[in-house]
Amino acid sequence: MIRLEPIRGHRRCCSGCGALTAAIHELEERRVRDLPVFEHRVELLVPRVRVACPRCGPKLERLRWLAPYARVTQRLAESVGRLCGVMAIRHVARYFGLDWKTVKDLDRARLERSLDPVDLDGIERSLPWTSSRSRRVTAMPR
Ligand SMILES: [Zn+2]
Repeated sequence: MIRLEPIRGHRRCCSGCGALTAAIHELEERRVRDLPVFEHRVELLVPRVRVACPRCGPKLERLRWLAPYARVTQRLAESVGRLCGVMAIRHVARYFGLDWKTVKDLDRARLERSLDPVDLDGIERSLPWTSSRSRRVTAMPR
């Protein structure tokens, strides 16, 4: 377990608007898993700060390495995602000592990020129950 200490007077980034402020609304410690060191599990005790943003009010501090409410660091999430591309989820979970559902959720988030949203512009759909003459589903450019 590695305890991270907040730096007094440090300006923090508001997750709502991106403004920098040193004003803290509240602070709570959160346990976060990080990449293992050799074969040892690493857990961080992170001071999670809610800034007192002049524009947004109380907002979670934006951290590049930790998503809001995440229980694993970004770099661990990325490692889990890469391994899920070549190994079964239960093997990845066992390798990192993570819960199967945690790994499944990380893998799903990775897949959603990697897939482009479906572009339906220019697609016209003819549903089989809207046409009495044709039972085919067709996609045509506008
Ligand atoms: Zn803000």
